[in-house]
Amino acid sequence: MSSDKISVFKGDITLQKVDAIVNAANNSLLGGGGVDGAIHQAAGPGLLEECRRMNGCPTGEARITGGHNLPARWVIHTVGPVWHGGNDGEAETLAMCYRNCLEVAHRHGIKTIAFPSISTGAYGFPIEPASRIAVREVKSILERNESIEKVVYVCFNQTTYDCYLKLIMNY
Ligand code: ADP
Repeated sequence: MSSDKISVFKGDITLQKVDAIVNAANNSLLGGGGVDGAIHQAAGPGLLEECRRMNGCPTGEARITGGHNLPARWVIHTVGPVWHGGNDGEAETLAMCYRNCLEVAHRHGIKTIAFPSISTGAYGFPIEPASRIAVREVKSILERNESIEKVVYVCFNQTTYDCYLKLIMNY
């Protein structure tokens, strides 16, 4: 069953020793605040240079780069939806982010991957529905796909951590 492949961790995603960490980026892929800023800071200027060559990323899609100075070999950049109240397709777009990241991971033979809580910072997606989507999408893919061995949700604050933990225990 997939649940033993999923864990929750409270802390900084840039320190994760996994094959790939996911970045909650913006459409430009040229860096920003929050987790995006932390990843670029830790990865060093080589990441920005590589990102410049990608010509951005549409919302809901995912792009892969090297990890540069990070412990992770890869960074998978995805762009979550900005929350506009919930009637603008936000839930489906967020689900697409998780699906597309895992699809890219699968194509690159990535076995271990860490996700931040996409869209729940500056983009304002409420944590309860966002975490439910994150857990539902990942579980559903792990049930069908044997190649990914470990998924970690890295939560930067206690509320986010509590939300994910409750979901994973009760799913
Ligand atoms: P978005 O624009 O997609 O909302 P943010 O980076 O603003 O992205 O926030 C997404 C989540 O990442 C938030 O829960 C935020 O607290 C968290 N976060 C910020 N820095 C880090 C970090 N270094 N590691 C893991 N999560 C982080």
